[in-house]
Amino acid sequence: MPFFFLILMIIAAAVLKSPLVKGFFGELGVRFALKKLNNEDYKILHNITLRDASKTTQIDHIVIGRNGIFVIETKNYQGWIFGSEKSAKWTQTIYKSKKQFHNPIRQNFGHIKMLEQQFPGYQHPMVSIISFSSNSTLKKVDIQSSHLHVLHTTGIVRAIQSYKEPLLTKQAIAAFAAHLEKSNIKDLKAKKQHVQTIKETQQKKKGQLSANICPNCGDPLVTRTGKHGTFKGCSSFPKCRFTA
Ligand SMILES: [Zn+2]
Repeated sequence: MPFFFLILMIIAAAVLKSPLVKGFFGELGVRFALKKLNNEDYKILHNITLRDASKTTQIDHIVIGRNGIFVIETKNYQGWIFGSEKSAKWTQTIYKSKKQFHNPIRQNFGHIKMLEQQFPGYQHPMVSIISFSSNSTLKKVDIQSSHLHVLHTTGIVRAIQSYKEPLLTKQAIAAFAAHLEKSNIKDLKAKKQHVQTIKETQQKKKGQLSANICPNCGDPLVTRTGKHGTFKGCSSFPKCRFTA
């Protein structure tokens, strides 16, 4: 990335301070941190969207290495962070203002469940990593389970490298990554847009009907009488055969 562009973005972030921009930089920070992992040994995937029968799940980062599968959730929050593994809500405190947010461990647990569906043959626990940006302070975050880390972005690589046992072959790593890339739903926005367009078309049609305009050709609708009573039909019949 050109240096000038980077400076521009830093200024933009300072000015905007919007959650969107903050989130973007949080993820950028994790991407940057993960670059320290040797890409010969690790496959690193960002922003993967998966879907099963009931829901769509977006996962920030997935690292697949000889030493296992690591699922990373990014939280770019400032202030003091309080939370425990079991509680439904965590708390962010900035001076006297307190805000609650969903327990990110539970959130990432959902991501892992979705990933387990993708790799039913993988018999080891996937490692859950919750990464907070360095401008937060992890005050009281109680963790009891293994294969679970709540840490600052700067600690991600060390946490991943602390797993020494070889679990996956090079071929398995490549196959898992390829499968995820293939399953990744890239056109989620396009699909949502598509649904929106259908809705709008239906609404437009309704409006035209109530204004007695044929939605097919734009000519006026007229009331006709048939075998089964009255109905609305296009005045351009038989050229247009629209009825309602
Ligand atoms: Zn018509």
